[in-house]
Amino acid sequence: MSERSYFDWNATAPLRPQARRAAEAALSLAGNPSSVHAEGRAARRVVEDARLQVAALVGAPASNVVFTSSGTEANILALSPAWQTAADKRPCNRLLISAVEHSSVRAGGRFAREAVAEIPVDAAGRVNLTALEALAKSGRSLVSLMLANNETGVIQPVAEAAEIIHAAGGLLHVDAVQAVGRIPCDITALGADLLTLSAHKIGGLKGTGALVRASEDTHLADPLIRGGGQERGLRAGTENVAGIAAFGAAAATAREEGEAEAKRMHALRDQLEAGLRSIAPRTVIFGLGAERLPNTTLFSLEGMKAETAVIAFDLEGIAVSSGAACSSGKVQPSHVLAAMGVSPELLRGAVRLSLGCDTTESDLERLLNAWRKLATALSKGRRGIAA
Ligand code: PLP
Repeated sequence: MSERSYFDWNATAPLRPQARRAAEAALSLAGNPSSVHAEGRAARRVVEDARLQVAALVGAPASNVVFTSSGTEANILALSPAWQTAADKRPCNRLLISAVEHSSVRAGGRFAREAVAEIPVDAAGRVNLTALEALAKSGRSLVSLMLANNETGVIQPVAEAAEIIHAAGGLLHVDAVQAVGRIPCDITALGADLLTLSAHKIGGLKGTGALVRASEDTHLADPLIRGGGQERGLRAGTENVAGIAAFGAAAATAREEGEAEAKRMHALRDQLEAGLRSIAPRTVIFGLGAERLPNTTLFSLEGMKAETAVIAFDLEGIAVSSGAACSSGKVQPSHVLAAMGVSPELLRGAVRLSLGCDTTESDLERLLNAWRKLATALSKGRRGIAA
């Protein structure tokens, strides 16, 4: 068994060997992909090969992939009132987001604060489609929905939402950062106009992302970063060749693994959840009533404090996370669980376990042993308080 067990794949995935090799090879290229000489053309080839690989993962034409510095940047690039289609050049006058979006979407991109409205979710964390329909009717909306939630793993009914949004003349942006590589993520099947991806969640390098357009006719009148005209004028700046090469390799590997890996993870995750509950039957697993990612469990137990649990697991050699990784380090109540109506008592104790392609049965065993210790200490503490 390795020394540590990593259960924080939704925060970031370890670099895949294929991605490391691709990045290392790209690091020895001297050229700028925009240069016309042989060195430049070699770098361009690497970028364009990776573009094909990333595009293939989501079923889009390669020319519709815009590389960015992160999923966060791709989300901000997407959240602009100025997206136009061939048929409709009106600006979007409002941004609709679900109540459980990632902080980079909650920040609202380039929409004025007053133009942003939140769509509620049900107790399992699924967006309320009736509320969406009512909101989408007023004006031309850009709607931003995540395909899968980073904390609970709950999968949103994105394709159904797309029909409602398009019938009302709006556009749909889908943040697929947590979903891609874990569940099928075809941009056309989802009905998304724009799709955000992040390389480091699928075993690429941190600091590389992409915004994918379903159609070349979906055009942005005001790019976020202007300058040298790279990325078809949608994102200026010399490309991060090594990061993009690694992204392409990670995407190709994730695509090859496909359903077999998802099935393996699903079985491990079910085993893990059964173990958590058999040790402490009052364990609450969030999002159980909904379809979820095969790799994610968010759970809590009355009396548990997430920050204490994270440290206790860490001391046992296990990396887990409390709530959203992007706010780890600061203990903040989860807006996702709050939107699902979870009680403050359970919300305080929410711990996320996320699995990946390296997770093994031995990791599960180590985690469940640590959980047994922690749950026993908690129940003794509770009995102590009651005495
Ligand atoms: N969207 C979701 C759902 C995420 O979970 C994250 C990161 O955790 C992001 C966007 C941001 O991606 P990045 O870390 O590449 O900025």
